Amino acid sequence: MSEFSLIEKYFKPLQGKLQYVDVGIGDDCAVVSVPSGFELAMSMDTLVEGIHFFPDVNPEDLGYKALAVNLSDLAAMGAMPKWFTLSVTLPEENEAWLQSFCSGMQDLIKQYPISLIGGDTTRGPLSITIQVHGMMREGQRLLRSTAKVGDKIFVSGLLGDAGLALNAKMQKIALSPEALASVESRLLRPEPRLSLGRLLLASASSMIDLSDGLIGDLGHLAKASGVAAEIFCEKLPLSKYMQAHVDSTGDFTLPLSAGDDYELCFTVPPTSVQTCRCDVKDQAVAITEVGRIVAGSGVTCLLNGEEVEQGRGYQHF
Ligand SMILES: [Mg+2]
Repeated sequence: MSEFSLIEKYFKPLQGKLQYVDVGIGDDCAVVSVPSGFELAMSMDTLVEGIHFFPDVNPEDLGYKALAVNLSDLAAMGAMPKWFTLSVTLPEENEAWLQSFCSGMQDLIKQYPISLIGGDTTRGPLSITIQVHGMMREGQRLLRSTAKVGDKIFVSGLLGDAGLALNAKMQKIALSPEALASVESRLLRPEPRLSLGRLLLASASSMIDLSDGLIGDLGHLAKASGVAAEIFCEKLPLSKYMQAHVDSTGDFTLPLSAGDDYELCFTVPPTSVQTCRCDVKDQAVAITEVGRIVAGSGVTCLLNGEEVEQGRGYQHF
């Protein structure tokens, strides 16, 4: 199949509802218009076989996750998703694989206003690169560098399930089939917290998404803000399976340090906490206060007031 027919058959259907697109797939460049009063937010992520996913991954889950992790970065700035470009490197031409990969992305395109507007396919070791483009009102964005001493630290959703699933798949932790099915969906199908991210523009002081683990990512936020962070381990929001693991091992390493949760971690000034809770109360995902910003540097983990040994965030290299 020629590259042209691959594009027509598999990639054009990923255009979704084109918004603000003057020229889409099919020319040398895509051309988009950013309405006046808005700015463009851009982010790129690459997933490589053997590093970010198992060689036997279901291509549908891979397509979903490749786009979801990029959308999570837009969520972390409070941006609205609009467009993406896609580069797929495939070891061999495999239409069934492509069909399934694209249908995983389609699951997100149906839910969010995002359109494929261009890309590239090449032959080589399997890897996926996506660049997402989002829009934000001028000056309305949440950075990592603006947390202040005294701010409360919150996270969305539940922490550590993706890491629990990864450890179970690598046979490091034993889980019942029911438990594995539940936590595995968090590993394979993270939900980008886009509407939550936008709602937090009004009350949060800084934000990051949790790709590499709470300690690691909160550490980036603290460093960028020139402050330190304290995490209260007893307050971490855990699924019943994660809670059972923590209860039986006494070990908080997974919820503190495992990657791939794709929840939001954000800071809120004490005077805005009530507004924040009120703004997000109708969201499908809950938020939980898990710590506070203090003077100094680094991240300290406390369990009932006592400092506990820290795990480390996931390092890609
Ligand atoms: Mg990120």
